[in-house]
Amino acid sequence: MGFDYDLFVIGGGSGGVRAARVAAGETGAKVALAEEDRYGGTCVIRGCVPKKLMVFASEYASMVEDAQAYGWDIKPGAFNWDHFRGKMHAELDRLEGIYRNILKNNGVETFDARAKLVDAHTVELSDGTRKTAKHILIATGGHPVKPDIPGAELAITSNEIFHLEKLPKTMLIVGGGYIASEFAGIMNGLGVNTTQFYRGAQILRGFDDEARGLVCEEMCQAGIDVHLGTNVLEMRREGDQVWVKATNGEERLFDQVMFATGRTPNADDLGLEALGIARGRKGEIVVDDYSQTAVPSVYAIGDVTDRVNLTPVAIREGMAFVETVFKGNPTKPDHALIPTAIFTQPEMGTVGLSEEEAAEQEPIEVYSTSFKPMQQAFAGRAQRVLMKLVVSKASRKVLGCHIVAPGAGEMIQLAGIAVKMGATKEDFDRTVAVHPTMSEELVTLKTPVRSA
Ligand code: NDP
Repeated sequence: MGFDYDLFVIGGGSGGVRAARVAAGETGAKVALAEEDRYGGTCVIRGCVPKKLMVFASEYASMVEDAQAYGWDIKPGAFNWDHFRGKMHAELDRLEGIYRNILKNNGVETFDARAKLVDAHTVELSDGTRKTAKHILIATGGHPVKPDIPGAELAITSNEIFHLEKLPKTMLIVGGGYIASEFAGIMNGLGVNTTQFYRGAQILRGFDDEARGLVCEEMCQAGIDVHLGTNVLEMRREGDQVWVKATNGEERLFDQVMFATGRTPNADDLGLEALGIARGRKGEIVVDDYSQTAVPSVYAIGDVTDRVNLTPVAIREGMAFVETVFKGNPTKPDHALIPTAIFTQPEMGTVGLSEEEAAEQEPIEVYSTSFKPMQQAFAGRAQRVLMKLVVSKASRKVLGCHIVAPGAGEMIQLAGIAVKMGATKEDFDRTVAVHPTMSEELVTLKTPVRSA
């Protein structure tokens, strides 16, 4: 039976676009892609990219202060949100254009429509037309969720933060994950009086305790009012502000409240149930190691599968799918030792196991140093950084590397190569230091601070 396409991709985010373009461009497959919103998906339109631009914008105020300490006769001026927001959205428009062009130039036919599955080889677009394909790839991503509390509708999520009419004077950010902690730093840097509520004992749950402890300490030092063990009970509109009642009994008014309380897969209304495609506990599409669902012709990649919810991982999953299905070379995406950065201020870069995870697994040595970096210390800042290696006693392999420092994201990319290659502590040691840098400490850590 002839199909309209070899591949129909649902979702034009990082994962879907990469899979579509590689399948079409490198294997000559006939490919179509449907996207109901903007091309580029979460990362480009309402995630990584605008977030990083906001991180950059938010860092200039303290840079100006530091510049004064270095002898520059300059004064911090006012931040113009309108100016920045306009430029940021123009940049996102440009990037969306590039995504559309990539698809076009690789011969992928696109539909600006929502698509859902009708059977194992058929999708229906929002205008009712049906298309058939030998393979269907679901790459529909996820979306932020708010807790079910009275007044939750008064709060925004990370979807809306990039579109604020004006910057609030006071803001509450709820959550302790990547998004909450990154935006706490951003808003604080832009001059917003920022409060963060996190229900648990320490933000960034799951990461190395020492590293996240330092991040939180530095965030407080930078002026963010972090309340641990605290959650929102209820909210109400009061004039232009939002009245918030917290679990610690406090009642306060904020100009703006943002929930960064997790994300959920976009897997509803896709027709999965009728086809017998299983959903997991969080609503994610269940796939095997090759991203294949229970229906052999249907695959899923990226956040909708809730494996490791990071753009570069979705891209890898998309490439592995093309390799498997269109290049006849069965390939599992590799989810081991993924380096990642959290763009808090200071940044945190991490690869491999936390000290706590490693200690559960085997006997370890911990090498760690925390110090005031030259550039900021000279400017009179008390800010500290952390360089840490978690090492296997038996194999001497570096099981985890954790960096809290300006530029930690850039550093961990490179340290990640060594760790991925299976470098031992001694391999780090025989690498000559680059002096004077912060990361040179990673190759000069002499004695373990503790063993476990
Ligand atoms: P996370 O799942 O990382 O964090 C959610 C936070 O909200 C947690 O602190 C959680 O607390 C808290 N929370 C959950 N439910 C409630 C509730 N009902 N009331 C109060 N607090 C609640 O989600 P994010 O939204 O921060 O990020 C989603 C994903 O996006 C990340 O996991 C990551 O994969 C990706 N991402 C990656 C970035 C990067 O690479 N730099 C940047 C941004 C996002 P608890 O810990 O107690 O469960």
